Amino acid sequence: MSELINGNDISRMIREEIRIETLAFREKTGVTPGLAVVLVGADPASQIYVRRKGKACEEVGFLSREFRLSGDAKEQELLEIIRQLNGDQAINGILVQLPLPPQIRSQAIIEAIDPQKDVDGFHPVNVGRLVAGNPCHVACTPKGIIELLDRTGIAIEGKEAVIVGRSNIVGKPLAMLLLARHATITVCHTRTRNLPETTRRADILVAAAGSPEMIQGEMVKEGAVVIDVGMNRLGDGRLVGDVAFAEVAPRASHITPVPGGVGPMTIAMLLQNTLNAARR
Ligand code: NDP
Repeated sequence: MSELINGNDISRMIREEIRIETLAFREKTGVTPGLAVVLVGADPASQIYVRRKGKACEEVGFLSREFRLSGDAKEQELLEIIRQLNGDQAINGILVQLPLPPQIRSQAIIEAIDPQKDVDGFHPVNVGRLVAGNPCHVACTPKGIIELLDRTGIAIEGKEAVIVGRSNIVGKPLAMLLLARHATITVCHTRTRNLPETTRRADILVAAAGSPEMIQGEMVKEGAVVIDVGMNRLGDGRLVGDVAFAEVAPRASHITPVPGGVGPMTIAMLLQNTLNAARR
């Protein structure tokens, strides 16, 4: 049976480290790191995420500010808030909760955020710096995956890493991070031919497709490390990952559960990016 990678425990440890570092930073500089979270509309999942982010900020001693706009807000209103936050000395990190309603262009919003305050790591400047190997802010979920591997003592160098999913927020930045750590990378997507053959090559297999339990036992090599990013809510209310846990776990050397694996790391990395922004 495989070893479970406990994202709750690792995330708690990191948040405690950040709390202590924040205390020392504030004593030395008088600066309290500040994060602004902007929510447009009333999507229930987004509301939960925003509440969790605010609470996590308060627990580590950050200043947390929340801005709420109605679902029919105009792009210009959101741009105006971002303009103010870009110039606000008390705010080191700005996060606009995605997805945005259709009348607002997400890319225009992302590009309006000062790259130094873009703690989500989505601004083209931060994406470009990541590709060039000179990162500023790195997207939180992929950064959290690297932390999980490091803190579990899993070596990355020289390994064959296969990522299922090529989104801008998970698959692509994770590929860059793993490459920078000297893994050999394959990124799969819906046009990949013979997916099982490819995933079976993986020493480190990351599932980030948003397709419930699509990674089945026979798609995984014996002894592989399996990281499940997927968060899929089924009709009966259950939350499952992209990995069929019961049949994959016996083959894997290490595996993340859903929930309690990658999910908790995302907020921990958001806090880390905000503290780093305050330090800069
Ligand atoms: P996207 O929908 O943006 O991207 C999904 C990617 O997976 C696409 O590249 C798509 O290919 C690929 N894909 C989908 N189905 C298949 C398939 N059957 N075979 C091969 N490739 C496939 O999703 P995100 O990256 O935003 O999120 C992925 C999952 O991770 C979701 O479940 C999401 O909820 C979760 N998530 C979890 C986070 C956390 O904190 N734990 C944070 C962010 C996301 P193509 O490009 O060809 O369409």
